[in-house]
Amino acid sequence: MITLAERVQQIKPSPTLAVNAKAKALKASGVDILNFSVGEPDFDTPEHVCEAGKKAIDERFTRYTAVPGIPELRQAIVERLRADRGWEYEPDQVQVACGGKHGLYNMAQALFNPGDEVIIPTPYWVSYPPIVQLAGGTPVFLPLAEEQEFDIDPDRLAACASDRTRGIVLNSPSNPIGSVFSRRALEAVAQMALERDWIVISDDIYDTIVYGDEPLPHILDIDPAMKERTLVLNGVSKSFAMTGWRIGYTVGPQHIIAAMNKIQSQSTSNPSSIAQKAALAAVSGPQDFPRMMKEAFVERLDYIVGRLRSMPGITCVRPRGAFYVFPNVSAYYGKRAGAKTIQGSLDLADYLLDEARIATVPGIAFGADDFIRFSFAASMEVIREGMDRLEAALGRLAS
Ligand SMILES: *Cc1c(COP(=O)(O)O)cnc(C)c1O
Repeated sequence: MITLAERVQQIKPSPTLAVNAKAKALKASGVDILNFSVGEPDFDTPEHVCEAGKKAIDERFTRYTAVPGIPELRQAIVERLRADRGWEYEPDQVQVACGGKHGLYNMAQALFNPGDEVIIPTPYWVSYPPIVQLAGGTPVFLPLAEEQEFDIDPDRLAACASDRTRGIVLNSPSNPIGSVFSRRALEAVAQMALERDWIVISDDIYDTIVYGDEPLPHILDIDPAMKERTLVLNGVSKSFAMTGWRIGYTVGPQHIIAAMNKIQSQSTSNPSSIAQKAALAAVSGPQDFPRMMKEAFVERLDYIVGRLRSMPGITCVRPRGAFYVFPNVSAYYGKRAGAKTIQGSLDLADYLLDEARIATVPGIAFGADDFIRFSFAASMEVIREGMDRLEAALGRLAS
Protein backbone atom coordinates (compact mmCIF):
# COMPACT_ATOMS: atom_id res chain seq x y z
CA MET A 1 0.00 0.00 0.00
CA ILE A 2 1.22 3.53 -0.78
CA THR A 3 2.47 5.20 2.41
CA LEU A 4 1.09 8.53 3.53
CA ALA A 5 2.88 11.67 4.65
CA GLU A 6 3.77 11.86 8.32
CA ARG A 7 1.86 15.09 8.68
CA VAL A 8 -1.45 13.42 7.92
CA GLN A 9 -0.71 10.45 10.14
CA GLN A 10 -0.18 12.88 13.00
CA ILE A 11 -3.74 14.20 12.67
CA LYS A 12 -6.08 12.08 14.75
CA PRO A 13 -9.48 11.26 13.31
CA SER A 14 -12.17 13.27 15.05
CA PRO A 15 -13.48 11.37 18.10
CA THR A 16 -16.98 12.44 17.12
CA LEU A 17 -16.92 10.67 13.77
CA ALA A 18 -18.47 7.50 15.20
CA VAL A 19 -21.32 9.39 16.90
CA ASN A 20 -21.86 11.44 13.75
CA ALA A 21 -21.94 8.43 11.49
CA LYS A 22 -24.39 6.67 13.77
CA ALA A 23 -26.68 9.72 13.92
CA LYS A 24 -26.69 9.89 10.12
CA ALA A 25 -27.37 6.16 9.77
CA LEU A 26 -30.24 6.29 12.27
CA LYS A 27 -31.73 9.31 10.53
CA ALA A 28 -31.40 7.63 7.12
CA SER A 29 -33.23 4.57 8.44
CA GLY A 30 -36.17 6.79 9.41
CA VAL A 31 -35.54 7.27 13.15
CA ASP A 32 -36.60 10.75 14.22
CA ILE A 33 -33.35 12.20 15.50
CA LEU A 34 -33.39 15.71 16.98
CA ASN A 35 -30.16 17.32 15.94
CA PHE A 36 -28.29 19.47 18.48
CA SER A 37 -24.92 18.85 16.91
CA VAL A 38 -24.89 21.33 14.04
CA GLY A 39 -22.42 24.18 14.04
CA GLU A 40 -24.27 26.57 11.79
CA PRO A 41 -27.30 28.90 12.00
CA ASP A 42 -30.66 27.34 11.19
CA PHE A 43 -31.58 30.43 9.12
CA ASP A 44 -31.26 30.81 5.35
CA THR A 45 -28.83 33.26 3.77
CA PRO A 46 -30.72 36.56 3.45
CA GLU A 47 -32.43 37.35 0.15
CA HIS A 48 -30.33 40.38 -0.84
CA VAL A 49 -27.17 38.33 -0.42
CA CYS A 50 -28.49 35.50 -2.60
CA GLU A 51 -29.56 38.06 -5.22
CA ALA A 52 -26.02 39.47 -5.32
CA GLY A 53 -24.70 35.94 -5.93
CA LYS A 54 -27.19 35.38 -8.77
CA LYS A 55 -26.35 38.74 -10.28
CA ALA A 56 -22.65 37.85 -10.23
CA ILE A 57 -23.44 34.77 -12.34
CA ASP A 58 -25.75 36.67 -14.70
CA GLU A 59 -23.08 39.31 -15.24
CA ARG A 60 -20.53 36.56 -15.80
CA PHE A 61 -18.42 37.58 -12.86
CA THR A 62 -16.98 34.12 -13.16
CA ARG A 63 -13.22 34.46 -13.57
CA TYR A 64 -10.19 34.40 -11.30
CA THR A 65 -10.08 37.34 -8.92
CA ALA A 66 -7.18 39.01 -7.14
CA VAL A 67 -5.51 36.51 -4.77
CA PRO A 68 -6.48 38.32 -1.51
CA GLY A 69 -10.04 38.92 -2.74
CA ILE A 70 -11.76 41.58 -4.85
CA PRO A 71 -10.78 45.14 -3.87
CA GLU A 72 -14.44 46.18 -3.26
CA LEU A 73 -14.88 43.42 -0.69
CA ARG A 74 -11.62 44.21 1.11
CA GLN A 75 -12.62 47.91 1.14
CA ALA A 76 -16.07 47.01 2.51
CA ILE A 77 -14.45 44.92 5.27
CA VAL A 78 -12.19 47.85 6.20
CA GLU A 79 -15.24 50.13 6.40
CA ARG A 80 -17.29 47.64 8.42
CA LEU A 81 -14.49 47.28 11.00
CA ARG A 82 -14.13 51.06 11.18
CA ALA A 83 -17.87 51.60 11.66
CA ASP A 84 -18.48 48.75 14.11
CA ARG A 85 -15.19 48.71 16.05
CA GLY A 86 -13.37 51.94 15.31
CA TRP A 87 -10.36 50.03 13.97
CA GLU A 88 -8.27 51.46 11.14
CA TYR A 89 -7.00 49.08 8.47
CA GLU A 90 -6.02 49.41 4.82
CA PRO A 91 -7.32 47.02 2.14
CA ASP A 92 -3.82 45.53 1.77
CA GLN A 93 -4.11 44.40 5.41
CA VAL A 94 -7.08 42.19 4.52
CA GLN A 95 -7.13 38.69 3.08
CA VAL A 96 -10.36 37.03 1.98
CA ALA A 97 -10.14 33.22 2.05
CA CYS A 98 -12.41 30.22 1.47
CA GLY A 99 -14.06 30.44 4.90
CA GLY A 100 -12.72 31.45 8.28
CA LYS A 101 -11.17 28.01 8.72
CA HIS A 102 -9.11 28.50 5.59
CA GLY A 103 -7.95 31.90 6.84
CA LEU A 104 -6.66 30.14 9.96
CA TYR A 105 -4.95 27.55 7.83
CA ASN A 106 -3.22 30.26 5.76
CA MET A 107 -2.03 32.10 8.86
CA ALA A 108 -0.66 28.96 10.51
CA GLN A 109 1.20 28.08 7.30
CA ALA A 110 2.59 31.61 7.08
CA LEU A 111 3.64 31.89 10.75
CA PHE A 112 4.68 28.63 12.36
CA ASN A 113 7.79 26.47 12.14
CA PRO A 114 8.34 22.97 13.51
CA GLY A 115 8.90 23.27 17.24
CA ASP A 116 6.86 26.45 17.61
CA GLU A 117 4.32 26.27 20.42
CA VAL A 118 0.88 27.82 20.14
CA ILE A 119 -1.30 28.22 23.22
CA ILE A 120 -4.87 27.04 22.77
CA PRO A 121 -7.38 27.75 25.58
CA THR A 122 -9.31 24.54 26.31
CA PRO A 123 -12.19 23.67 25.67
CA TYR A 124 -11.20 24.68 22.12
CA TRP A 125 -12.73 24.72 18.68
CA VAL A 126 -11.93 21.33 17.10
CA SER A 127 -9.89 22.71 14.20
CA TYR A 128 -7.30 24.75 16.12
CA PRO A 129 -4.96 21.91 17.17
CA PRO A 130 -4.81 20.15 13.77
CA ILE A 131 -4.34 23.44 11.88
CA VAL A 132 -1.37 24.27 14.13
CA GLN A 133 -0.02 20.72 13.75
CA LEU A 134 -0.33 20.74 9.97
CA ALA A 135 1.98 23.76 9.99
CA GLY A 136 4.46 21.78 12.11
CA GLY A 137 3.59 23.67 15.30
CA THR A 138 2.78 22.17 18.68
CA PRO A 139 -0.49 23.01 20.44
CA VAL A 140 -0.12 23.77 24.16
CA PHE A 141 -3.41 23.54 26.01
CA LEU A 142 -4.39 26.23 28.49
CA PRO A 143 -7.18 24.86 30.70
CA LEU A 144 -10.17 27.14 31.30
CA ALA A 145 -12.12 26.44 34.49
CA GLU A 146 -15.89 26.19 34.64
CA GLU A 147 -15.80 27.84 38.12
CA GLN A 148 -14.15 30.88 36.50
CA GLU A 149 -16.79 30.94 33.75
CA PHE A 150 -14.10 29.68 31.38
CA ASP A 151 -12.14 32.92 31.54
CA ILE A 152 -8.34 32.90 31.10
CA ASP A 153 -6.48 32.64 34.40
CA PRO A 154 -3.28 34.75 34.20
CA ASP A 155 -1.29 32.30 36.37
CA ARG A 156 -2.28 29.35 34.25
CA LEU A 157 -1.42 31.35 31.15
CA ALA A 158 2.03 32.11 32.52
CA ALA A 159 2.50 28.40 33.29
CA CYS A 160 1.86 27.55 29.61
CA ALA A 161 4.43 29.99 28.27
CA SER A 162 7.88 28.77 27.22
CA ASP A 163 10.78 30.05 25.12
CA ARG A 164 9.20 28.32 22.16
CA THR A 165 5.76 29.96 22.51
CA ARG A 166 4.94 31.87 19.33
CA GLY A 167 1.39 32.87 20.02
CA ILE A 168 -2.10 32.19 21.33
CA VAL A 169 -5.50 31.61 19.77
CA LEU A 170 -8.45 33.49 21.30
CA ASN A 171 -12.08 32.72 20.49
CA SER A 172 -14.58 35.06 22.12
CA PRO A 173 -17.51 34.41 22.05
CA SER A 174 -16.39 30.83 21.97
CA ASN A 175 -17.39 27.64 20.28
CA PRO A 176 -18.12 25.31 22.15
CA ILE A 177 -18.64 27.26 25.41
CA GLY A 178 -20.31 30.51 24.37
CA SER A 179 -18.09 32.28 26.90
CA VAL A 180 -16.51 35.70 26.47
CA PHE A 181 -13.05 36.63 27.75
CA SER A 182 -13.02 39.42 30.33
CA ARG A 183 -11.05 42.61 29.90
CA ARG A 184 -8.83 41.53 32.76
CA ALA A 185 -7.98 38.24 31.02
CA LEU A 186 -7.23 40.02 27.76
CA GLU A 187 -4.98 42.46 29.60
CA ALA A 188 -2.94 39.52 30.89
CA VAL A 189 -2.72 38.08 27.36
CA ALA A 190 -1.68 41.45 25.91
CA GLN A 191 0.98 41.92 28.54
CA MET A 192 2.48 38.48 27.86
CA ALA A 193 2.27 39.00 24.09
CA LEU A 194 4.05 42.34 24.26
CA GLU A 195 6.74 41.12 26.65
CA ARG A 196 7.39 37.87 24.82
CA ASP A 197 6.81 38.83 21.20
CA TRP A 198 3.73 36.64 20.63
CA ILE A 199 1.21 36.78 17.82
CA VAL A 200 -2.41 36.81 18.97
CA ILE A 201 -4.97 35.17 16.71
CA SER A 202 -8.39 36.53 17.61
CA ASP A 203 -11.17 34.39 16.13
CA ASP A 204 -14.13 36.80 16.15
CA ILE A 205 -16.47 34.67 14.04
CA TYR A 206 -19.30 34.94 16.64
CA ASP A 207 -18.88 38.65 17.39
CA THR A 208 -22.34 39.57 16.07
CA ILE A 209 -23.98 37.06 18.43
CA VAL A 210 -23.36 38.56 21.88
CA TYR A 211 -26.09 38.56 24.56
CA GLY A 212 -26.60 41.31 27.11
CA ASP A 213 -25.66 44.96 26.93
CA GLU A 214 -22.03 44.83 27.95
CA PRO A 215 -19.64 45.54 25.09
CA LEU A 216 -17.44 42.67 23.96
CA PRO A 217 -13.87 43.26 25.24
CA HIS A 218 -11.26 42.89 22.49
CA ILE A 219 -7.49 42.45 22.58
CA LEU A 220 -7.07 45.25 20.01
CA ASP A 221 -8.78 47.70 22.35
CA ILE A 222 -6.56 46.83 25.32
CA ASP A 223 -3.36 48.41 24.01
CA PRO A 224 -2.69 50.12 20.64
CA ALA A 225 0.63 48.24 20.48
CA MET A 226 -1.33 44.99 20.02
CA LYS A 227 -2.24 45.95 16.45
CA GLU A 228 1.14 44.91 15.08
CA ARG A 229 0.88 41.46 16.69
CA THR A 230 -2.80 40.60 16.27
CA LEU A 231 -4.56 38.80 13.44
CA VAL A 232 -8.33 39.18 13.52
CA LEU A 233 -10.30 36.37 11.91
CA ASN A 234 -13.90 36.82 10.91
CA GLY A 235 -16.30 35.98 8.10
CA VAL A 236 -19.88 35.76 6.97
CA SER A 237 -20.48 32.06 7.72
CA LYS A 238 -22.14 32.62 11.09
CA SER A 239 -23.20 36.30 10.94
CA PHE A 240 -25.05 35.94 7.62
CA ALA A 241 -25.84 32.23 7.67
CA MET A 242 -23.46 31.66 4.74
CA THR A 243 -21.53 28.55 5.80
CA GLY A 244 -21.75 26.96 2.36
CA TRP A 245 -20.54 30.02 0.45
CA ARG A 246 -17.08 29.66 2.05
CA ILE A 247 -16.00 33.25 2.68
CA GLY A 248 -13.94 34.35 5.67
CA TYR A 249 -11.38 37.06 6.16
CA THR A 250 -8.30 38.00 8.15
CA VAL A 251 -7.07 41.50 8.97
CA GLY A 252 -3.67 42.19 10.43
CA PRO A 253 -0.10 43.39 9.87
CA GLN A 254 0.58 43.86 6.17
CA HIS A 255 3.67 41.63 6.01
CA ILE A 256 1.77 38.68 7.53
CA ILE A 257 -1.17 39.20 5.18
CA ALA A 258 1.31 39.30 2.26
CA ALA A 259 2.82 36.00 3.42
CA MET A 260 -0.67 34.48 3.72
CA ASN A 261 -1.38 35.70 0.17
CA LYS A 262 1.69 33.77 -1.05
CA ILE A 263 0.26 30.60 0.50
CA GLN A 264 -3.18 31.30 -0.95
CA SER A 265 -1.75 32.09 -4.41
CA GLN A 266 -0.20 28.61 -4.57
CA SER A 267 -3.17 26.74 -3.16
CA THR A 268 -6.67 28.05 -3.90
CA SER A 269 -5.65 31.17 -5.94
CA ASN A 270 -8.73 33.01 -4.67
CA PRO A 271 -12.11 32.32 -3.08
CA SER A 272 -15.07 31.88 -5.44
CA SER A 273 -15.77 35.09 -7.40
CA ILE A 274 -19.52 34.58 -6.98
CA ALA A 275 -19.34 34.02 -3.23
CA GLN A 276 -17.19 37.15 -2.90
CA LYS A 277 -19.92 39.26 -4.55
CA ALA A 278 -22.49 37.76 -2.19
CA ALA A 279 -20.23 38.46 0.80
CA LEU A 280 -19.83 42.05 -0.43
CA ALA A 281 -23.61 42.47 -0.24
CA ALA A 282 -23.56 41.04 3.30
CA VAL A 283 -20.68 43.14 4.61
CA SER A 284 -21.64 46.43 2.95
CA GLY A 285 -25.45 46.11 3.16
CA PRO A 286 -27.91 46.45 6.05
CA GLN A 287 -26.87 44.72 9.27
CA ASP A 288 -30.34 43.85 10.59
CA PHE A 289 -30.04 40.15 9.70
CA PRO A 290 -27.44 39.34 12.38
CA ARG A 291 -29.53 41.32 14.90
CA MET A 292 -32.66 39.39 13.99
CA MET A 293 -30.82 36.07 14.41
CA LYS A 294 -29.49 37.12 17.77
CA GLU A 295 -32.99 37.99 19.01
CA ALA A 296 -34.24 34.55 17.97
CA PHE A 297 -31.27 32.86 19.66
CA VAL A 298 -31.67 34.68 22.98
CA GLU A 299 -35.15 33.26 23.56
CA ARG A 300 -33.87 29.73 22.92
CA LEU A 301 -30.83 30.37 25.12
CA ASP A 302 -32.95 31.34 28.13
CA TYR A 303 -35.10 28.29 27.69
CA ILE A 304 -32.35 25.70 27.17
CA VAL A 305 -30.18 26.99 30.03
CA GLY A 306 -33.20 26.97 32.35
CA ARG A 307 -34.07 23.41 31.42
CA LEU A 308 -30.50 22.10 31.72
CA ARG A 309 -29.99 23.74 35.11
CA SER A 310 -33.20 22.19 36.41
CA MET A 311 -31.90 18.68 35.73
CA PRO A 312 -30.22 16.95 38.69
CA GLY A 313 -26.41 16.94 38.63
CA ILE A 314 -26.04 19.24 35.62
CA THR A 315 -24.19 22.53 35.88
CA CYS A 316 -24.26 24.97 33.03
CA VAL A 317 -22.50 28.30 32.59
CA ARG A 318 -24.81 30.73 30.83
CA PRO A 319 -23.37 31.50 27.38
CA ARG A 320 -22.59 35.15 26.69
CA GLY A 321 -22.49 34.67 22.93
CA ALA A 322 -22.64 32.22 19.97
CA PHE A 323 -25.34 29.51 19.80
CA TYR A 324 -24.00 26.69 21.95
CA VAL A 325 -24.45 25.53 25.54
CA PHE A 326 -21.82 23.37 27.15
CA PRO A 327 -23.28 21.73 30.27
CA ASN A 328 -21.14 19.70 32.64
CA VAL A 329 -22.70 16.24 32.64
CA SER A 330 -19.96 14.38 34.50
CA ALA A 331 -22.32 13.62 37.41
CA TYR A 332 -23.77 10.93 35.12
CA TYR A 333 -20.41 9.23 34.50
CA GLY A 334 -20.17 5.93 36.31
CA LYS A 335 -23.93 5.36 36.02
CA ARG A 336 -25.29 2.37 34.20
CA ALA A 337 -27.52 1.88 31.18
CA GLY A 338 -28.38 -1.81 31.32
CA ALA A 339 -25.06 -3.69 31.24
CA LYS A 340 -23.12 -0.67 30.04
CA THR A 341 -21.42 1.93 32.26
CA ILE A 342 -21.26 5.51 31.00
CA GLN A 343 -17.57 6.31 31.20
CA GLY A 344 -17.32 9.68 29.53
CA SER A 345 -18.78 12.12 27.03
CA LEU A 346 -18.54 9.72 24.09
CA ASP A 347 -20.54 7.08 25.96
CA LEU A 348 -23.11 9.61 27.10
CA ALA A 349 -23.54 11.07 23.60
CA ASP A 350 -23.95 7.54 22.26
CA TYR A 351 -26.50 6.71 24.96
CA LEU A 352 -28.47 9.90 24.22
CA LEU A 353 -28.52 9.02 20.57
CA ASP A 354 -29.89 5.53 21.28
CA GLU A 355 -32.19 6.34 24.16
CA ALA A 356 -33.32 9.92 23.59
CA ARG A 357 -32.78 10.10 19.83
CA ILE A 358 -30.92 13.37 20.23
CA ALA A 359 -27.58 14.10 18.54
CA THR A 360 -25.05 16.10 20.56
CA VAL A 361 -21.29 16.57 20.36
CA PRO A 362 -19.27 14.89 23.14
CA GLY A 363 -17.01 17.34 24.98
CA ILE A 364 -13.95 15.20 24.34
CA ALA A 365 -13.95 16.58 20.79
CA PHE A 366 -13.17 19.97 22.31
CA GLY A 367 -10.66 18.61 24.82
CA ALA A 368 -13.15 18.60 27.73
CA ASP A 369 -14.60 15.18 28.52
CA ASP A 370 -16.83 16.38 31.41
CA PHE A 371 -19.16 18.20 29.01
CA ILE A 372 -21.36 17.77 25.98
CA ARG A 373 -22.25 20.49 23.47
CA PHE A 374 -25.78 21.38 22.44
CA SER A 375 -26.27 23.80 19.58
CA PHE A 376 -29.46 25.83 19.96
CA ALA A 377 -29.51 26.74 16.28
CA ALA A 378 -32.75 24.75 16.20
CA SER A 379 -36.43 25.68 16.51
CA MET A 380 -38.04 26.17 19.95
CA GLU A 381 -40.19 23.15 19.21
CA VAL A 382 -37.16 20.93 18.65
CA ILE A 383 -35.42 22.35 21.73
CA ARG A 384 -38.47 21.72 23.97
CA GLU A 385 -38.91 18.18 22.76
CA GLY A 386 -35.14 17.55 22.94
CA MET A 387 -34.93 18.73 26.56
CA ASP A 388 -37.90 16.52 27.51
CA ARG A 389 -36.20 13.53 25.94
CA LEU A 390 -32.86 14.38 27.59
CA GLU A 391 -34.41 14.67 31.03
CA ALA A 392 -36.25 11.38 30.66
CA ALA A 393 -33.19 9.52 29.34
CA LEU A 394 -30.90 10.85 32.09
CA GLY A 395 -33.52 9.86 34.66
CA ARG A 396 -33.38 6.27 33.42
CA LEU A 397 -29.64 5.93 34.17
CA ALA A 398 -28.99 3.84 37.29
CA SER A 399 -26.25 4.39 39.83
C1 LIG B 1 -17.66 28.25 12.28
C2 LIG B 1 -16.38 28.69 12.88
C3 LIG B 1 -15.35 29.30 12.13
C4 LIG B 1 -15.39 29.59 10.67
O1 LIG B 1 -16.00 28.71 9.88
P1 LIG B 1 -16.00 28.86 8.30
O2 LIG B 1 -17.21 28.09 7.91
O3 LIG B 1 -14.73 28.24 7.82
O4 LIG B 1 -16.08 30.30 7.93
C5 LIG B 1 -14.22 29.72 12.78
N1 LIG B 1 -14.09 29.57 14.11
C6 LIG B 1 -15.03 28.99 14.85
C7 LIG B 1 -14.80 28.89 16.32
C8 LIG B 1 -16.20 28.52 14.27
O5 LIG B 1 -17.13 27.94 15.04
